[in-house]
Amino acid sequence: MGAFTAIILAVAIAMSCILIYVPNMHMIALRIEDNKLKGGRISVMDMLKSSSEELETEGEATRESVLKGHQIRLLLPKNVTSASVDIENIYVNKTIVITINGIGKDYFSEYPMRGSSDNIVDVTYDSEDLVGVIEITLDDIREVKMTAEGESVYLDFIDPHEIYDYVVVVDAGHGGNVPGATKGGVYEKDLNLGIVLELKKLFDRNDKNIGVYYTRTDDTNPTFANRVGLANDSEADLFLSVHNNSTASGRMSSINGTEVMYEGGDSSGESKKFASICLNHLLVELDSKSKGTVVGDEVYIIRMSKPPVALVEVGFMTNQRELDLLQDSEYQRKAAQALYDSVLEYLQL
Ligand SMILES: [Zn+2]
Repeated sequence: MGAFTAIILAVAIAMSCILIYVPNMHMIALRIEDNKLKGGRISVMDMLKSSSEELETEGEATRESVLKGHQIRLLLPKNVTSASVDIENIYVNKTIVITINGIGKDYFSEYPMRGSSDNIVDVTYDSEDLVGVIEITLDDIREVKMTAEGESVYLDFIDPHEIYDYVVVVDAGHGGNVPGATKGGVYEKDLNLGIVLELKKLFDRNDKNIGVYYTRTDDTNPTFANRVGLANDSEADLFLSVHNNSTASGRMSSINGTEVMYEGGDSSGESKKFASICLNHLLVELDSKSKGTVVGDEVYIIRMSKPPVALVEVGFMTNQRELDLLQDSEYQRKAAQALYDSVLEYLQL
């Protein structure tokens, strides 16, 4: 009788939850629908396209007076200065997020965006509490350059190779709801990210003109296509992916050491060369055992990579000693140093 009552109670609770939340979900759905109609998903992109055509027919003099040689012009309302404009480049998604404090829902109808839609796939706009967010999706990896002049803000989308001598893409394996190997409450995704963030510190301090793009710098999980896409579309000189290993069974064992995968299908041998350099530096820096370089073409991001690729398996999470070491920040820093030195050696810098 007790169990029966419990079941009835559980069903009653579940039913009331559904009744409470479903109308809300319905309202949220309506709001999204509403935004799609009002918010400029279609109109901002169309505005830019028609501006592009207008400028084409109006000729060089008009284009020069409107754009001053830049790609896009945004106009700011009187009370808004360029200091209120914040630009975030989410390279892995080829998305530029421009946040402007002080502009409302109908900003674009008052201040049309003008310029060329080259490289631009889509523009969306939304504003809440006078914070406007313009999202520009590009067809390629581009750096954004902002030039402010009075009430005009000009944007240019620049090929990274025009800015940097070399482009390197660094990938921290797994992330988000995909933890990778999991041992004793330790997630591989966190070890990979820990090493990559140490590596980022080294590249941030570097005075060589290297542009480094990261597939992630937090606990997110970009798709495999976006990860390798960042390397391919930026025409990177190198693609480095950081992982940690475990035995096939996933059981703790004495198996330990460092292994680096390369693309066997790369007939130039550059992937294998980069992998060997990574392995050598890791072995010296970490004093770990060599598991060698191995062909990793069964791995999507290796097989699909156009730049020379190395996927390092720094250590074995299924080995207690290495699992302990991998969690040590000094050990992570050493691994990062080894990878940093490897990139510089490969690029002969
Ligand atoms: Zn992994």
